[in-house]
Formats: sequence, structure tokens, C-alpha cells
Amino acid sequence: MLQKLKTVEEMSFKDLNLSENLMKAIADAGYENPTAVQAKSIPIVLSGKDLLAGAQTGTGKTAAFTLPILHMLSNSNNNLKSKPRCLVLVPTRELAVQVEESVKMYGKYLPLKSTSVFGGMSIVPQIKALRRNVDILVATPGRLLDHAGQRTVDLSGIQILVLDEADRMLDMGFIVDIKKIIALLPKQRQNLLFSATFSEKIKSLSEFVLRNPAFVQGEKQNSASELVDQSVHMVSQKLKSHLLSHLIKHHKWEQVLIFTRTKNGANRLADKLAADGISATAIHGNKSQPARIKALNQFKNGSVTALVATDVASRGIDIDRLPYVVNFELPNAAEDYVHRIGRTGRAGSSGRAVSLVDREEMRFLKEIERFIKREIPRVMFDSFVPPANINIAAEEKTVSHNNYDGQFKGRPRTAQRKTSRGRQSRFNAGAERGFSNDLNISANTAKSFKPSGFTGTQSSKKPLNSYRFGNSKRQNFSKNSFSNSKSAKVK
Ligand code: AMP
Repeated sequence: MLQKLKTVEEMSFKDLNLSENLMKAIADAGYENPTAVQAKSIPIVLSGKDLLAGAQTGTGKTAAFTLPILHMLSNSNNNLKSKPRCLVLVPTRELAVQVEESVKMYGKYLPLKSTSVFGGMSIVPQIKALRRNVDILVATPGRLLDHAGQRTVDLSGIQILVLDEADRMLDMGFIVDIKKIIALLPKQRQNLLFSATFSEKIKSLSEFVLRNPAFVQGEKQNSASELVDQSVHMVSQKLKSHLLSHLIKHHKWEQVLIFTRTKNGANRLADKLAADGISATAIHGNKSQPARIKALNQFKNGSVTALVATDVASRGIDIDRLPYVVNFELPNAAEDYVHRIGRTGRAGSSGRAVSLVDREEMRFLKEIERFIKREIPRVMFDSFVPPANINIAAEEKTVSHNNYDGQFKGRPRTAQRKTSRGRQSRFNAGAERGFSNDLNISANTAKSFKPSGFTGTQSSKKPLNSYRFGNSKRQNFSKNSFSNSKSAKVK
């Protein structure tokens, strides 16, 4: 009789035929069912085939390769006692630490050894660790080549090669290093390549590395995780830190990962949040590895509320059920947005990604929306009252027709027009111009509306599109203004 094949959704870990010791570790981790990328990849890896997997961070991709590798290595005879048998190449130090933590966690009932090597740390302890008959080696390319050059690692026993976050490794310019490393490996080996995106570069790398690979797509390509509730606050750059402090305090966020574009920006923002009474620390490429690990641990164990990071540092951050990610500035590359928000809504838990967007960043926002194939809702911050001493006049002068969101389809013309500038009370009109568009507030509605907290004079003959000072103001907009709106209230 024909047996009905199970769909990926119906599969359980039992169906994957992993060893009992692995099943125990999976149960300890609290996982109930394999994620899609795990259900699809594990049988292929166990069959010994090469694999090309499209998997975004946060989908359980690490276990998708780690579990079958641990299974295979623990079931095969090891006559290579002194040489690593599996090499996992990763783009960043943080990811190296994290992948090795996963290897240790899933392999805790198995007699296998692992270690990680990466730059920014003294090489001496790594040399000592490599002497201890390691089975699985996790490495960043540069430091691995240092070890190979000093002959402190022997890669001639590698049976399985994993390229994790391969797209990021290429973005970071590691292609030459990767090719040098591959030249040091035995020709006969299994190769697994994981990438969140598929560019031409990734295609040619996979042709270079993989032999007759099976292909697995974990989640829809180039789509941001469905579990992440994404929103945009239109806000002037100068007000962002004030709004952020407000959001954290108002919503009592206890663990929020914040992205800035620059290292200095990350430091400045962490200082500003701390000055506002929010415990915060920064993590970026200029910090020493011990300092980065310390910051990450403080964030993980809840002793700091806010971790401010740059994109490079972001790749390796894996915190279970991270609830909030804030884009203090949008990244210039749309892929980075997907990676950033992938830090939340991980493996079945929901999360929120909030982007603070200045008009100058509208082109980035448009690119991101094109990339993820959806518009991100603009959300109002009802309860935010900006500090009275902020002067955005200078900033406003730089506003042009083009760097505002004039190219957005369906935007009312009124919103694209320059408004009068230079008064403190108008910051909201500038900061929230995007809202008025999204809310379809007619010019007349806006004209007739004067917030009670409004103290300035409105010298412009043209109506400002919106003011928002407090919850009470919302009622001034007619119900119809909100119909068909893509915007939503801050929850
Ligand atoms: P990754 O995509 O590998 O970075 O994994 C993201 C997160 O998902 C990690 O925190 C894992 O601990 C978690 N995870 C991995 N597999 C599962 C699973 N089957 N069920 C629940 N959580 C998982």
C-alpha cells in the first residue's frame, strides 16, 4: 500500500532519524518541530549530497547543518584523531562564537570536540585549542589563513565544508580568502552553502564549490520574515534619539537591539540613551573582541536594555526571542535591512522591527520596500512630546522636493510641497509629513485642526499637513481620514 508522504509542516524531529543523543539535546533546547529549512536540509545532508540552501538568519539554519553533521561525525570512525573533519566558515567573529555555541549545545551528549578561531583575539589560546583534537572547526576566513600560514591547523582531514552566510562573506570581500582555503582542503568532501540571498556572485561561488548540489529554499527569497511586525516612524534625524528614548520608556521595552550606520553614531546613541536613564551599550568593529562579547552577554542576560550595533556586528547576534529591533538609521543596502530585522521574530516567535526614517532616507526606504515586495506601514507616535529646545530649522532648509517621498505612488500633492520652516512648533509637521500622506488626511482636515499643545504661530499660508502632540489630537481627524490607510497606531 502506498504511504502518504509527509509535508514539511507535518514533519517531526523523529522523522529525521537523528541519533538519540541528538534528540535529547533537541528536547533540552525546547524545540518541538523542525523548521522548514531543517526539515528540508537535514535528509539531504545526511545522504551525503552537496547542498545549496537559501535560508535567512533566524530560520534555524544553524541547526539545519549542525545536527546532521554531528550525527554523521559521531557515527563514523575517526582515524584522523588530530585533524578537524568539519570546517564551518562564517563572516564574523560573533557568528563564529554563536555557531560554535550551537555545535556545543546540540552535541552536548556526543564525544565530539569543537573550537572557533577568529580575528581580534590573541592567537595563542586558539593554537592551544586547535592542538586538542578538534572535530569541528568554526572559523572566519582571515584568521583561519593565519593559522594555516603558521601551520597551527591542518585542513587535510576536512570531510565537510560549510559556507555559512556566504552572501555576507562575499560582501565583506572574502572571496580570495575562501578560494585560498578551499585549495587547502581535500578534493573529496561534502559541501554545504547557506545564503540569505542569491546574487550572480553567489551563483558563481556555488558553481566553484558545490558538486551537483541539491537546492533547498527555507523561506521565500528576499522576503522579510513574516513573523516580524514592521513599521516606520517618519521623524527628523535630530529628534530620533528623543523619540527612541520615549518609545523604550513608554512601551517598557526591556530588550531592544538598535542599528546605527556608523560606529561613532553607535557610541553616541548609547551615551545618549544612558543619559536618558536607559541602560545601553554599543557593539561594533572598533571594539575589542572581549569588549564585544561582554556587551553581548550583558544584553543577553538582561543587565542592559539597549544594545546599539552596526551592521557588521549584527550578523552574529542571536538572542532567543529578541522582541524589538530598531533601525535608528536605515541601511543603504536593502539586504542589510532583512538581516537586521531577522534578529527578531526568530524561529517561530514574533517580533517587532521599528524604523526611524528621516526624509533624507526615503530613497533607502523605497529600495527596501521594493526588495521585500511590500510597503511598510507608517505609524504615528501619539504620545511623544519633543523637547522644546530642538531647532530643526537648519535641517529643514536642506529639504528638497526630490529627497522627500515625491516618487511614492498615490501620495497627495499637498504632502510633497515644502512647508514653511523654522519654528520649533513645526517639527511635527516636518517629522510626520509622511503620516499625513499615509493617513489620507485632506488639506482641509489639516487646516481646521489646531492642537491644543500648539504654541507657535503658523505663518505659512499653506496648511501644514499634520500636527501630533498627544492622544487627544487624534479625534480631530475624521474617521474617513483613516479609511484605506496603511498606517496604524503605535501599539
Ligand atoms: P538560526 O537561524 O540558526 O540563527 O537560528 C535562530 C534561532 O532559532 C536560534 O535561537 C535557535 O536556537 C532557534 N531554533 C533553531 N531551530 C529551532 C526549532 N526547530 N524550533 C525552535 N527554535 C529553533
